[in-house]
Amino acid sequence: MDREQSQPQPTSPGALAPHEALIARALQTAIANKTISVHFQPIIRLSDGSIDGFEALARWRHSEQGDIPPDIFVPIAEATGQIVALGLLVLEQALEEARAWPRDVSLSVNVSPRQIAQPHHATEMLALILKSGIAPHRLHLEVTEGLLLEPDQATLHFLSRMRREGVSFALDDFGTGYSSLAYLDQFPFARIKLDKAFAQRSANAGRSAAIRKAVSDLAAALDMDVIAEGLETASQVADAVAAGCEFGQGYFFSRPVPAAMVRELLAHQFGM
Ligand code: C2E
Ligand code: CA
Ligand code: CA
Ligand code: CA
Repeated sequence: MDREQSQPQPTSPGALAPHEALIARALQTAIANKTISVHFQPIIRLSDGSIDGFEALARWRHSEQGDIPPDIFVPIAEATGQIVALGLLVLEQALEEARAWPRDVSLSVNVSPRQIAQPHHATEMLALILKSGIAPHRLHLEVTEGLLLEPDQATLHFLSRMRREGVSFALDDFGTGYSSLAYLDQFPFARIKLDKAFAQRSANAGRSAAIRKAVSDLAAALDMDVIAEGLETASQVADAVAAGCEFGQGYFFSRPVPAAMVRELLAHQFGM
């Protein structure tokens, strides 16, 4: 196996646009000093409004620039290769927080294709999981496409190794790419996260309902659960329920919150 060839070459900060290079350098410091934090957003069982688990989302408060959103720094971290260290830092912090949660509460963590293609990444992640004492079956890794269509050896190794240890996978942002169905065929995801674009009621409500229903039926046929993302209103929740989605996530239930607020959310019963 030729790892040299299969590894994307890291972009040096100098190859980025000037403002991106600035962010990349500041991010280097933030990762080294562990000043990246993690917020948690609940994933709700739509059958009864209970909390299934939480998705960990990276947060970065820059001393001068204020909050820098992940939509800005994650793509830069992917371009520079910093996503590997960032991902491990997020995982470590999220696992540490999850130790304080009840044992039946799951933890979802985002992983980028770039991390997974990294040789030995499974070993590094499993070491953190082991150290935390969190049972691997409580962990869901959320991946987007760009991952599986032409998987290299390192990627295949990562996926099979993690699954063997009991970690499960969710296909994130489903429906936004051009080849999502091919991904479902390639790898047995436990869950599909239906992108928030499908939560919105379009001009033609009947069509969007038909799409949600079709995805939910497809998932059921493939023995996968659906998480409807981006639920902001009661009617969007009702639409997700009507389509047969098992889980929901979005501002209607809760925004992502700091770790200290997770306990409050766990004590709260969400009205359905
Ligand atoms: P994602 O994985 O799809 O995460 C969901 C995003 O939707 C989060 O944005 C969340 O705050 C937002 N969201 C949740 N509910 C609602 C809603 O009801 N309405 C709307 N409009 N938005 C909602 P966030 O935290 O800004 O993260 C953006 C993206 O950055 C994430 O999208 C994910 O792709 C990436 N990201 C965040 N943290 C990490 C990380 O630790 N590692 C990696 N690789 N990517 C991350
Ligand atoms: Ca996600
Ligand atoms: Ca998503
Ligand atoms: Ca279903």
